[in-house]
Amino acid sequence: MTADLASRIQRVQGTLAEAGSDGLIVTPGSDLRYLTGYDAKPLERLTALVLPRDGDPVLVVPALELAEAQRSPAALAGMEIVTHQETDDAYAAVTARLGGAARVAVDDHMWARRVVTLQTRYADVTWTVAGRLLADLRMRKGPDEVASLRHAGAAIDRVHRRMGEFLKVGRTERQAAAAIADAIVAEGHVTADFVIVGSGPNGASPHHGVSDRVLESGDTVVIDIGGSTQEGYCSDCTRTYAVAAEPAGEVSEYYAVLREAQRTQCDYARPGVTAASVDRVGRTVIRDAGFGDYFVHRTGHGIGLETHEEPYIVEGNDLVLESGMAFSIEPGIYLPGRHGARIEDIVVTTDDGLDRLNTTTRALTVLAG
Ligand code: ZN
Ligand code: ZN
Ligand code: ZN
Repeated sequence: MTADLASRIQRVQGTLAEAGSDGLIVTPGSDLRYLTGYDAKPLERLTALVLPRDGDPVLVVPALELAEAQRSPAALAGMEIVTHQETDDAYAAVTARLGGAARVAVDDHMWARRVVTLQTRYADVTWTVAGRLLADLRMRKGPDEVASLRHAGAAIDRVHRRMGEFLKVGRTERQAAAAIADAIVAEGHVTADFVIVGSGPNGASPHHGVSDRVLESGDTVVIDIGGSTQEGYCSDCTRTYAVAAEPAGEVSEYYAVLREAQRTQCDYARPGVTAASVDRVGRTVIRDAGFGDYFVHRTGHGIGLETHEEPYIVEGNDLVLESGMAFSIEPGIYLPGRHGARIEDIVVTTDDGLDRLNTTTRALTVLAG
């Protein structure tokens, strides 16, 4: 971990140099965690990693947070910590390390009031966002990150294997979701980040959350769930079920098309092909079967310390995939007002193909209900 953090810091400094930036300021969030291992709270008191292009990084933290910061992997590895007291000027502590900088990048999620304060106080500095620069690093996963994503994938698979316990005729989506959320934590996550239970017509809305709709016999139910593990890495997996009885015939018909599309995409994706082309090969299968109008979202998103990050698997993204990229492949078919289905696996590109981190059956499973 220590060597990893040091190399991440070095790579960021190299990228800052290429971008003509003199330094970087990163406030609490996944970028900070990526660069320091510090899962800092987003408080009103300012916490920031300050990274000059040439020079040592420093972690600026409120004095009250010192003990927490000292336990972070970066501090344990020797990163300097500077504290500020309640009445100190925290911004001055941050910019002290960037004296003379003409161009400084800030993380994408820095609060607007901090950005505006910096812009106002240091009006001669050109402020930019670091999103692109950090995404370029974060989307190329190291072996330890892949291992963490694999743990997360196995944990969410255990929840899917238990789905028969949760989806019962007579229960509401909300009741099922509460039980599923508990299982997400029980099976190896520290938080349940989202639970989609899309039953019957609600399954036709890709980002439906939950409702008080009562599950009925023969319903198809789209279950899209994920959480974060202790290591900070996220899981995200969708399976479609039927409750108590076989679903309507047309569901089986388009489900077979969907499964073929998802399999085609997983067989196709590898280093050297573009993100857009992964989307296209699946969309073609669905369109050729006559369901093109019902696949209404991109194929997938990268995943790591955040559920949605680069690379996005979408038309127009000409990024060429490389070994070690992690993303979802999640085509869906949605018939408005009736029902829908989605199959989602998290995959990681290997040297010559990909590994699926979710391994439960992709068949439309009929639960006893
Ligand atoms: Zn989504
Ligand atoms: Zn999902
Ligand atoms: Zn997803």
